[in-house]
Amino acid sequence: MSLLVVGSVALDDVETPFGRREGALGGAAVYFGLAASYFTDVRMVAVVGRDFPREHVDLLDERGLDLTGLQVVDGSTFRWGGRYGYDFNARETMFTELNVFADFDPEIPVEYRETPHVFLANIAPALQLGVLEQIEAPRSTALDTMNYWIERTPEELRRVLERVQIVLINDSETRELAQDPNLARAALNVLSMGPRILVVKKGEHGAVTFSNEDAFAVPGLPLETIVDPTGAGDAFAGGFLGYLAATGDFGGEGLRRATIYGSAMGSFCCESFSVDRLASLEPGEIETRFEAFRDLTRFEHVPIFDV
Ligand code: AMP
Repeated sequence: MSLLVVGSVALDDVETPFGRREGALGGAAVYFGLAASYFTDVRMVAVVGRDFPREHVDLLDERGLDLTGLQVVDGSTFRWGGRYGYDFNARETMFTELNVFADFDPEIPVEYRETPHVFLANIAPALQLGVLEQIEAPRSTALDTMNYWIERTPEELRRVLERVQIVLINDSETRELAQDPNLARAALNVLSMGPRILVVKKGEHGAVTFSNEDAFAVPGLPLETIVDPTGAGDAFAGGFLGYLAATGDFGGEGLRRATIYGSAMGSFCCESFSVDRLASLEPGEIETRFEAFRDLTRFEHVPIFDV
């Protein structure tokens, strides 16, 4: 079943200890959309400037993304620059040039309005609400956000949280949103704000999926090749929601599998700069990676105490 993503499409300058890339294809909607495209049909609503290279559009098109909702307007594409040291969990934002993204007011094409599954990537909560107003009877709605919106527009964020079923944010955002340093308590607090499912992303340390009934934790895969973690959180969301949109498997076991597919897509994302790896996967590689997570976490309890 189709999955709609609304979010940034960017040109990124990224520097890591393994090299640098300038003007590389990036943006939350791109990482999400490419990851989800292996699982289901993806529709994208975003904005770019006239400088956005044709080759990037072609790459998204070749992966089968529906780009009817990609507006091209006068001006420059959103640009973001980030730098990493050896601790990939600590990133320095070098610059953010919003350009045409500053006036982004997502208009959902008529043919997208009945899309059953919706992902609101990290944009202003007021815009996320505006998107929800335009969608008719979605089966699932999900969002990402960031500290900036938690601090600057808490009321709007609360309103959109009341209307989505799934939230995917990182651990510091979870603590800040709940104003509680204890992650387990903070997660329950976020669930009390409206959503039924909360995925807490912890970078290279994995992810935890919380519902009111269950918590499921997956570690990060100890990858031998980590080149650039940019977009890994969005790629995780793409795998997680792509799996759920494809299968409709929203039960406890389904959420566990979604968490592993999400982790698999996040791990591939880190293996190259930009979307190089994410855009060129074979489906078999995704299943093999799923198995790697199972092998990493499998254990049996053989009791040694008489109880
Ligand atoms: P992540 O590593 O998951 O935080 O995602 C990084 C991507 O988000 C990069 O490709 C950036 O272009 C994009 N990005 C950075 N800052 C913002 C922002 N303020 N709003 C939307 N997208 C952003």
